[in-house]
Amino acid sequence: MTALNLRTTAEIQASDAAHHWHPFTDTAELAAKGTRVISSAQGCWLTTNDGDRLLDGMAGLWCVNVGYGREEIVEAVARQMRQLPYYNTFFQCTHPAATEFAEALSEVSPAHMSRVFFTNSGSESNDTVFRLARVYWDCLDKPSKKMFIGRRNAYHGSSVIGASLGGMGAMHAQSGLPVPGVHHIGQPYWFGEGGESDPAEFGRARARELEAAIDAIGEDNVCAFIAEPIQGAGGVIIPPETYWPEISRICREREILLIADEVICGFGRTGNWWGSDTYAIEPDLMSIAKGMTSGYIPMGGVLISDRVAEVVAHKAGEFYHGYTYSGHPAACAAGLANLRILREEKLVERVRDDLAGYLAKAWAGLADHPMVGEARTKGLLGALELASDSAARTRLAPLDGMGAGARCRDLCVENGLVMRAVGDTMIISPPLVISHGEIDELAARARKALDGLA
Ligand code: PLP
Repeated sequence: MTALNLRTTAEIQASDAAHHWHPFTDTAELAAKGTRVISSAQGCWLTTNDGDRLLDGMAGLWCVNVGYGREEIVEAVARQMRQLPYYNTFFQCTHPAATEFAEALSEVSPAHMSRVFFTNSGSESNDTVFRLARVYWDCLDKPSKKMFIGRRNAYHGSSVIGASLGGMGAMHAQSGLPVPGVHHIGQPYWFGEGGESDPAEFGRARARELEAAIDAIGEDNVCAFIAEPIQGAGGVIIPPETYWPEISRICREREILLIADEVICGFGRTGNWWGSDTYAIEPDLMSIAKGMTSGYIPMGGVLISDRVAEVVAHKAGEFYHGYTYSGHPAACAAGLANLRILREEKLVERVRDDLAGYLAKAWAGLADHPMVGEARTKGLLGALELASDSAARTRLAPLDGMGAGARCRDLCVENGLVMRAVGDTMIISPPLVISHGEIDELAARARKALDGLA
């Protein structure tokens, strides 16, 4: 296949190394290795600048839910940009696309959430919930309720507040985070941290860390608990079934807000519209992004429960918060077209009734591989724990000075598959349009990569 770019791959790599500073990347290592250049994509497949095809097991960064190459979205964005490329939603203004998208979102939101606040990313969504939740308690004359409780190894974004709410040690260490006002409890990661306990007991115990933290901090000082229904970037950590019911009970009884970060789990990823539906969580606020536009245009938002909205709307007056591009017309057009595809093609139902089971079976087929300690899925999220002894959950030794996960990730690419490594946990999150044949292909290529580890 002819490269779509006039520059050769080597030329792009040289220019990239000289001028482009990449997120979450060791710059010196990248310059030595050369970046992978992706030039086009269709469906679930990426094409490199040299014409190699890769099956995208990650839907980009967990976002291309409707797959690549959807002309409906391209057309909707182009139409919108011709008609009104930009106008703000500040200061008593709106435009038809923002209003129509907000209404369409409310039709798929949990019944108790009828309003959305638009942002441009998941990080901004979490900055927004941080401010909004504090304003809520101020409005109820409980100004001491300021503390947020999050979880170690959670990911809530890269802004100062997003990274503080998140529990990524490396991010904290690099820039003196978290900011004051955030406390972290343990994650419900049974394979990595469950020790001798069984998953159900472990799930309950980890949830009860929230209760202990509230006791230690004082209920009158705690604003909210924030968590992803399933931790994504932390390594697709699927909580034991006992975890969320206990968390929900504690938040209800102890009068703190429950915030679900649905940036990954939203828009069908777990087989329901929301990860909160999958775990019967009733959040007060939900952060959304990624699948909201399937990544075609950057966008995020916060879904606001009527309980919070009514208090803040009636008591706070103006909420002094917003972004120049909140409700950007092109992003709203992309979001509307994306939502139409999800609904018309019944992609959420397809994950729930068909793909989740199909992937679970294909993934379970990898569980007996000698390099795999656990294979788990929920909806279209999956993880493989690399281990030399599954019963003892013993990790693999580094190979050629490289962690087993990083080595496995490179072997996946050599076998035409993009699968991400989080330490020694291999993770997937493919587009919701993936076919049975492509799931088989995904599992077969993952197996070849695992064979290469042996
Ligand atoms: N929250 C979660 C759960 C995420 O996975 C991410 C990104 O991966 C974010 C928030 C941050 O989103 P963004 O990168 O759009 O700022």
